[in-house]
Amino acid sequence: MPAGGTYVIVGASLAGAKAAETLRAEGFAGSVVLIGDEEERPYERPPLSKGYLLGNEERDSIFVHEPGWYTEHGVDLRLGSAVSALDRASRQLMLADGTAVGYDRLLIATGAAPRRLQAPGADTDGVRYLRTVGDSERLGAALRAGGRVVIAGAGWIGLETAAAARHYGCEVTVVEPEAGALYRSVGPELGDFYASLHRSHGVTFRFGEGVSELRAAGGRIHEVITSAGTRVPADVVVVGIGAVPNAAFAAEAGLEVDNGIVADEALRTSDPDIFAAGDVASAFNPLLGRRIRVEHWANALTQGPVAARSMLGQRASNDLVPYFYSDQYDLGMEAAGLPEPGSYDDVVYRGDTRASEFIAFWLNDGAVVAGMNINVWDVNEDIQALIRAGTPVDPARLTDPDVPLADLLP
Ligand SMILES: Cc1cc2nc3c(=O)[nH]c(=O)nc-3n(C[C@H](O)[C@H](O)[C@H](O)COP(=O)(O)OP(=O)(O)OC[C@H]3O[C@@H](n4cnc5c(N)ncnc54)[C@H](O)[C@@H]3O)c2cc1C
Repeated sequence: MPAGGTYVIVGASLAGAKAAETLRAEGFAGSVVLIGDEEERPYERPPLSKGYLLGNEERDSIFVHEPGWYTEHGVDLRLGSAVSALDRASRQLMLADGTAVGYDRLLIATGAAPRRLQAPGADTDGVRYLRTVGDSERLGAALRAGGRVVIAGAGWIGLETAAAARHYGCEVTVVEPEAGALYRSVGPELGDFYASLHRSHGVTFRFGEGVSELRAAGGRIHEVITSAGTRVPADVVVVGIGAVPNAAFAAEAGLEVDNGIVADEALRTSDPDIFAAGDVASAFNPLLGRRIRVEHWANALTQGPVAARSMLGQRASNDLVPYFYSDQYDLGMEAAGLPEPGSYDDVVYRGDTRASEFIAFWLNDGAVVAGMNINVWDVNEDIQALIRAGTPVDPARLTDPDVPLADLLP
């Protein structure tokens, strides 16, 4: 292990904070500098569209570490500091305030930013995005005020926001250019299940339509025009149309970037002294045999430590089964694998789909490629083991709740 030197982490959020923690836990004695452009110490984002937005979780509960943790562990936490440039030849980062920070090894964990809506009127007051704790607080205040909420995008952020808006009694319309909800992430089978859930809670969907214009009156939003020409009254518009990796300074510095910073199995980039983790990394996953960029909490939680171990010269591998969770209304779910359309040829169910207590399995050539447990708990590790095994399973036994999932493993 390197005895010293300066290890710099850019991006003071989950992946970055977990990397700093791992460097110290592994005994790294050099300097650890954690640089972030937000004013808050590292926090977790899932509550921002769930418990914290609903007012069920305290602000103190969202942070990755206690306030004193950074000083106690010799982590030089520099908040409110944006990195504007990277000079690989001199191994220096330039901060927006003109300061230079040198590094021996660098981890880029700059995450992703919401994709901006490109439509006339998109900069009107009342158009909201949801990424930061401040965004969540402003959105919560708007939803508490009630009124008509239009959500652009029926992805996870859009649907969780729809559930929160219904919780506050708002009238909710979701506008989505695809033919259904969540189609790109889980396909139509479970996407339609989620759309039905929301409809049963009073949400209106306008599928096959995009937001093409936002009209204001008196400086405030008052209606959304969809691509089909439909006029939808709106007091608040929430945009959840995906996220783009924060990879600009990495690309300008000549690192390989292709929908995120390209990294190998050890999360090393095209520069051997620079690593990438979390939402910004397009990393090779040996289990899947290809590079993927994953915008999931568990991915940041795990890749931060993997990158830290690689920085220390240890053998570390990004061999994770993608894992995701969501809570909407009284429905909790965990998902493992990537059930994108085209990656599977069948979906089968174990349990009671009508009572919303079941496991969905996506199969390809008889093998489980993804699974989602809905209001069924303590099974996701077994689902992940089935995905890892990658061998065909007997569908009759897979769908029989009396057969323990572990018995299906080869
Ligand atoms: C509202 C919301 C709800 C979510 N819910 C779920 C969920 O239920 N389940 C799930 O699995 N995942 C969920 N996610 C996704 C999950 O939160 C992310 O995958 C995770 O936050 C990624 O962590 P990260 O550390 O890689 O990046 P981020 O959390 O994006 O952090 C990157 C940090 O780097 C900073 N930064 C960027 N550029 C610079 C720069 N040039 N200089 C300095 N700092 C910079 C950013 O401001 C940010 O603070 C949710 C995300 C959001 C926004």
